[in-house]
Amino acid sequence: MKREFTCIVCPNGCEIEADYEIKNGTPVISNIQGNTCKRGEEYVRQELISPKRTIASSILVEGGELPLVSVRITKPIPREKIPEAVQEIRQYRVTAPVRAGAVICHDFLGFDTDLITTKNVPAAHK
Ligand code: SF4
Repeated sequence: MKREFTCIVCPNGCEIEADYEIKNGTPVISNIQGNTCKRGEEYVRQELISPKRTIASSILVEGGELPLVSVRITKPIPREKIPEAVQEIRQYRVTAPVRAGAVICHDFLGFDTDLITTKNVPAAHK
């Protein structure tokens, strides 16, 4: 089988083409081209076995200069869990001041990834 991928590991976004077979339920890559580094091949292998994605979103801030703070997870999670994860992230609220890098949830959804803030939000002046 042949399949095309756009590597999302770094901003280069290499277009990769891979030939592979499924042997005993495991993809075996026979030919790969377009990746400019080894991480591209690892990305394709991961995509064939179990695609993963990271999430960036935002959550509500109470008492802040801004109403929202941006958040992200620190490690990718299985792609099919993204809708559930987005729903879960919407439940969170934080109180200002908020520091960039603050951990909102350890072991988010049990995937050994943390949900962290990516921006400072000072408290609103009263
Ligand atoms: S193959 Fe390497 S250089 Fe190309 S996008 Fe992936 S990580 Fe970046």
